[in-house]
Amino acid sequence: MTRTVYVNGDYLPETEAKVSIFDRGFLMADAVYEVTSVLGGKLLDFQGHVARLQRSLSELQMVSPVTMDELLEIHHQLIEKNDLDEGGIYLQITRGAGADRDFLWPDPEEVQGGIVLFTFAKKITANKSIDEGIKVISIEDLRWGRRDIKTTQLLYPSFAKMQAKKAGATDAWFVEDGYVTEGYANNVYIVKDGVIITRQLSNDILHGITRAAILKFAAEAQMKVEERPFTIEEAQAADEAFATSATGFSQPVVEIDGVTVGTGKPGPVSKRLREIYIEEMPKTAL
Ligand code: PLP
Repeated sequence: MTRTVYVNGDYLPETEAKVSIFDRGFLMADAVYEVTSVLGGKLLDFQGHVARLQRSLSELQMVSPVTMDELLEIHHQLIEKNDLDEGGIYLQITRGAGADRDFLWPDPEEVQGGIVLFTFAKKITANKSIDEGIKVISIEDLRWGRRDIKTTQLLYPSFAKMQAKKAGATDAWFVEDGYVTEGYANNVYIVKDGVIITRQLSNDILHGITRAAILKFAAEAQMKVEERPFTIEEAQAADEAFATSATGFSQPVVEIDGVTVGTGKPGPVSKRLREIYIEEMPKTAL
């Protein structure tokens, strides 16, 4: 079956989908995005993703070419047209195609933003990396200072992921001024003596939608949480470590920079939070 994608108002076979070479998303990474996971053909935490999308757009003075209700309808249409049961939907909104490559933003009254969505099928409830945990490396955080905005400037995270692969690991954790900020595409946590430790929200990290849900479930399960920065050394000496993201849920981490974390097996806290997440999130899925 050829995948159907959505581009600027049209549902098209992926091979026929085209965007302008003058689109600022293409020329300048002048674009924001979201990834929403799909389970049982339904969207997990769509409200959370839409709220963050609106915040990203507003921080960059961008205007969405569609309303948020239309956006939900497009997501549903794509799930149906692609018969998607498990996986996710990628959504990108750009500032559109202005005058060649002007560094000044075009007036949103004159230039409409671009919009692209596509589905991807992927096993997100169970996979080998969840059963075994993953290895990560640390790398200096050289990204820009507004990591709370979900932009498509992903060259450095992509570089970090390549470095991880070269080192025989799966993911990279960013470190700034001696402290871990977040993972290349996830928020990160350690557990020590029963306390879950994760960096507090600020412009230094993306405000993960999964992070918010996981911390809520942790509080409801009477787990102790400390929101503060931690170092790589502290993480290596922790009882367990894990990362969260929309399609990864809670992903156990068993090795950091070649040092085994805890027993070297996925820890009970990330496992329990993952179970709760998979049990609870479908209840509010759209
Ligand atoms: N941090 C970064 C840098 C990310 O790219 C992502 C997801 O792409 C996350 C955290 C996790 O966010 P969410 O849980 O909303 O997927």
